[in-house]
Amino acid sequence: MIDLPSYREQSPDVAAHLAEIRQRPVVMTVGSVGRVFDSPQGPITALSGIVFDVHQREFISVIGPSGCGKSTLIRIVAGLESCTDGAVLVDGQPVVGPGPDRGMVFQSYTLFPWLTVRRNVMFGPSMKGMPRAESEQKADEWLRVVGLSKFADHYPNQLSGGMKQRVAIARALANQPRILLMDEPFGALDAQTRCSMQSHLLQICASVDVTVMFITHDLDEAIYLSDRIVVLGAHPGRVLEIIEVPVPRPRSSEQFLSGPFLATKARLEELIHGRSDTGDGVLAAQ
Ligand code: ADP
Ligand code: MG
Repeated sequence: MIDLPSYREQSPDVAAHLAEIRQRPVVMTVGSVGRVFDSPQGPITALSGIVFDVHQREFISVIGPSGCGKSTLIRIVAGLESCTDGAVLVDGQPVVGPGPDRGMVFQSYTLFPWLTVRRNVMFGPSMKGMPRAESEQKADEWLRVVGLSKFADHYPNQLSGGMKQRVAIARALANQPRILLMDEPFGALDAQTRCSMQSHLLQICASVDVTVMFITHDLDEAIYLSDRIVVLGAHPGRVLEIIEVPVPRPRSSEQFLSGPFLATKARLEELIHGRSDTGDGVLAAQ
């Protein structure tokens, strides 16, 4: 057996960081959100009583098994789906449909194939009436942030999967959303590209004033990226626990084997897979 600290144990640095986040303004409130779908077999409660706040520049992940309502939740936040109970507020205003205050990055590539990378990123600002020279300059700034300046004149089909997702992130950020919504954005990428995209996203979040809600079913990814993790259970989709990640920042891949990281992973496994061999504080050696 390897002795692990409790996932609830926070170093003074981590505790101070999380306390500082709690003092920032609330950007988004998920207020008792529920969603029931009608089906030929009868009503399906996809989500029930989901409650949490997200603070400015916080990185929050939502994790849970397939079918627990993660996509339904983020689609409700995006305004692409309605809730049958409760409400989502962004800056205190109820969400009633999609809006530029919420930028969405999906798992599948959603770039316009007939536009260059730069024009894909310019799309939102241009639609809002920004003059061409200015939106071009903005696009180039965001392409610099995601490390794709050299590819501005390429077309999406000339890019790798990871690069396409970086363009999708730049395109979402170019609208200067209050909150960036990401639904398993790296799920279709190979392991190595996925890892480098995670590091990229950490760098972006360190330099840009953006709040992120990130959906994943990958435990390592959730821990590596997040300040807090909302763990959902299935049938009905509900909050099992909201975990404050005790891993210090800045994050690096070496931390994957650190005590706080492994303790958090053990807790997530226990919640999601119902493992009884991972007690609070102790992980059975493999
Ligand atoms: P996840 O993203 O966590 O895998 P989803 O949000 O896609 O889960 O789905 C949650 C539940 O809601 C599932 O049981 C799914 O079958 C059901 N569901 C999702 N969308 C619909 C829909 N449009 N009509 C009926 N049932 C749906
Ligand atoms: Mg999903």
